[in-house]
Amino acid sequence: HAKSSGKNQFHYFSEELQQAAERRISVESEIRQALTNREFIPYFQPQIDTETKKIIGAEALVRWQHSEQGLIGPGEFLDIAEETGQIKEIDQQILEKAIAQRAEWAQSEGIKSDFRIAINISARHLRDESFTARVKSLISKYQLDPSVIELEIVESELVNDFEMAVKVIDELNELGVILAIDDFGTGYSSLSYLKHLKVHTLKVDRSFIIDVATSNIDCNLFKGLINLGQSMKLQIVVEGVENIEQFEKCELYHAEIVQGFYFSKPLDAKAFREFYRSY
Ligand code: C2E
Ligand code: MG
Ligand code: MG
Ligand code: MG
Repeated sequence: HAKSSGKNQFHYFSEELQQAAERRISVESEIRQALTNREFIPYFQPQIDTETKKIIGAEALVRWQHSEQGLIGPGEFLDIAEETGQIKEIDQQILEKAIAQRAEWAQSEGIKSDFRIAINISARHLRDESFTARVKSLISKYQLDPSVIELEIVESELVNDFEMAVKVIDELNELGVILAIDDFGTGYSSLSYLKHLKVHTLKVDRSFIIDVATSNIDCNLFKGLINLGQSMKLQIVVEGVENIEQFEKCELYHAEIVQGFYFSKPLDAKAFREFYRSY
């Protein structure tokens, strides 16, 4: 529609910009309010060991528990929060709530001592001198073993200030937390960055699993990504597993960990505990 000519085009374009600007301002102030009210909460999606079929941990995924609109997913607000920088505070609240939940589960019998909690963080934190110290203080506040905490960083976000990212990732490794590259395979044109980053886990992006059961090309690409990670001694997590055919491909190529709607959607803490108990 932006192709229509002359004045119209300009009019249309500016109207769109205007709407985007208005959305940004209103969402930004709603997020500010929600941060004050602590309305951001983690949901948990189980991660399953392909071999033993046991739950080895969970990924924490932010949800906005809005007082009027109910539960809102990150697709509705994360882009704005990234733009405004509010993502750092959202992540900080999710980090604390997820760690607190992990510590609470540690008290209840049944949850294994090496149960891992994976938490998404914006790459903005990798440009922040004090991030490692904040993670460290949360871990000691809740008396957790740092190795049960995994931090996921989206591959495509690593491009900005790569040197600084390497430095903070080194510090986090020193602290003993585990690092993961999220949405692997969608970010970089060159893979040489991998040898400079001390990461433990590669999360193969969901787009690579969608057609593995029906397309040979997709299947080979999927297998190639897993082999690449394994040759670098990285743990492979496949996300977005929705059916048995996809799961069988993960087994066939020895992806160690799987996650997806085939096993469970992300659940609130209480529902997750129930799922874990009855699994
Ligand atoms: P992600 O970390 O790659 O998480 C996977 C997304 O795929 C999640 O969406 C999850 O609900 C969804 N998913 C899981 N299994 C399946 C499946 O079998 N099929 C399909 N179609 N989808 C599946 P969600 O929760 O909407 O999160 C979207 C993205 O938002 C995440 O992608 C992550 O990059 C970001 N995000 C989530 N929570 C946080 C957070 O606390 N902080 C930051 N910085 N980013 C977050
Ligand atoms: Mg993730
Ligand atoms: Mg992902
Ligand atoms: Mg993603």
